[in-house]
Amino acid sequence: MKLKKIAALAAVAAMVVSMAACGSTNSDADKSTTGSAAEESQNAGKDTLVMATNATFPPYEYVDGEEYKGIDIEISQAIADDLGMKLQVDDMDFDSIIPAITTGKADMSLAGMTVTEDRKKNVNFSDSYATGVQVIIVPEDSDITGPDDLSDKLIGVQQGTTGDIYCSDTPEKGGYGEDHVVAYQNGASAVQALKTGKVDAVVIDNEPAKAFVAENEGLKILDTEYITEDYAIAIAKDNTELLDKVNASLAKLKADGTLQSIIDKYIKAE
Ligand code: GLN
Repeated sequence: MKLKKIAALAAVAAMVVSMAACGSTNSDADKSTTGSAAEESQNAGKDTLVMATNATFPPYEYVDGEEYKGIDIEISQAIADDLGMKLQVDDMDFDSIIPAITTGKADMSLAGMTVTEDRKKNVNFSDSYATGVQVIIVPEDSDITGPDDLSDKLIGVQQGTTGDIYCSDTPEKGGYGEDHVVAYQNGASAVQALKTGKVDAVVIDNEPAKAFVAENEGLKILDTEYITEDYAIAIAKDNTELLDKVNASLAKLKADGTLQSIIDKYIKAE
């Protein structure tokens, strides 16, 4: 998929969403103009599925030259194909994604996003399509050997992610406290901070961790798995119609092996 200036399209999509939302309470006169029961639905008339992501999270989403690539991009495309829609990728900061969904700027998000109780207050999540594990990256010569060694250290995280949330929690809740956490706009910046000694460790999802360590000499991932999480697709709470469709598409993609083959393309078995 080509990188594009998508603001205009997103605005159009948002308009379509709001028009479609109006459509669901159309008067009889309006209904008779459209004539089709399908067009009374919330997503009626939409031919583009706007997908919000943060393309700094390889191998789930990243920019390669002029293109967005990764597991989430391909799964989104497969869902759009199944629904007979075009896909529009809207790249933004990770912590802008849920607001984009709740305000209708985007229809769904695939961003290696973990299902959490807090996020569930704002969005609905589809069935899970992958799992992630929070891991700890340290310099090769670090004396940190596991989560217990982090309590007197400085930890780099990506802003608004579960790594950020867990680490920033108070020690009573299993975290290290905000004073021990430095939040960066993306994982790559956190890893750069680790390389230059500004932080002692980075807590991030395992697959991006592997990609960052492969690209940066002198770093390693600790063996201890920190927390396992479910990734799912975020959709606006009032768009249960799209949620049902996406879950049906996901079920098909799981059953016919498409989902696994997309994952296998990017994540090689160890
Ligand atoms: N899985 C993590 C979360 O949901 C990180 C996701 C990301 O950085 N794209 O918070």
